[in-house]
Amino acid sequence: MTTCVKCRQDVGFLGMLSLNRQTGRCGKCESEVKQALMRFRVAFVNFCSDGKLTPEKWKALLTAAAHDQLNIQEALVFIREDALNLLNRILTFADSDGYIKEEDEQNIRYIGQTLAIPVADMQPILNRLDRLKYITNIRRGNLPQVMPSIRLDTDEFCHIEIPATYHKVNSKSVSYVQGRFVITNKKLRFLSPTGGTEISWNSVMRVQKYPNGIYLELSRKSGNGFYAVSDSLLTEAVIDTLARIAKRQLVGERSTGDSRRIPQEVRAAVWQRDQGKCVQCGAHDYLEFDHIIPYSKGGASTVNNVQLLCRRCNLQKSDRI
Ligand SMILES: [Zn+2]
Ligand SMILES: [Zn+2]
Repeated sequence: MTTCVKCRQDVGFLGMLSLNRQTGRCGKCESEVKQALMRFRVAFVNFCSDGKLTPEKWKALLTAAAHDQLNIQEALVFIREDALNLLNRILTFADSDGYIKEEDEQNIRYIGQTLAIPVADMQPILNRLDRLKYITNIRRGNLPQVMPSIRLDTDEFCHIEIPATYHKVNSKSVSYVQGRFVITNKKLRFLSPTGGTEISWNSVMRVQKYPNGIYLELSRKSGNGFYAVSDSLLTEAVIDTLARIAKRQLVGERSTGDSRRIPQEVRAAVWQRDQGKCVQCGAHDYLEFDHIIPYSKGGASTVNNVQLLCRRCNLQKSDRI
């Protein structure tokens, strides 16, 4: 005689066929649980559609799960993909801002603990979080300091040194100047075997981040344009912060009036439309908001012109443009 672990009834000879051997539930109980799990999932996704999980929301979800007599461990495994999706969403939104807010960090840790996300799944999330925290700190004026490979002036110190390739636009063609940035408290140096340039912080009007480099807009003629660098997030953050300090502008979180910024409603709509995955390869992690027509070519920050790409596809796209 075999009994269902849920309803405790004898499943009978024919019932053996529909008994789920893993859960030990009869066919009827199994389909009830499946439906309850689906309700729980829908509630979770709806509750977190604003990108946050709060203790209040979690309490309400637990109450609903208890009402449906759900095993909470089973429910957590069932919504794992959605939980990871929520975590990636928080990171992608922060990445788009170029910094992470304290409340977002707390939310990430809360979700990881509450929803019992396994360490292996959590580690890449925490790595990306740490990197965003590092960048956020730089924007607040806590710049790194490294030993430069060249002699600097007295009272000059180096914040980062990084290989860079200048895309020099000539009247008919583009030439690629291999070199490196030596970024100091006094100036932005681009050194190449053929010379290079020194740019004072006051002449840096704007710096824009691309997946594969940065675009410099200067108040002088030479040195303007695109520089390919491996770590554009770090390079942009350091240059932007030093230019702000030189111009006595506010450092820290960037103003919401930045026209390049993708509005929150647009991000939310794009995330929903693209279902939290790369539109090209379907990857779920390390997603970035991409302007389909680049901002520099007049592309707007609208739902129609923004899509989700994973880091790898975004880099490939940038290399083609
Ligand atoms: Zn049963
Ligand atoms: Zn991709």
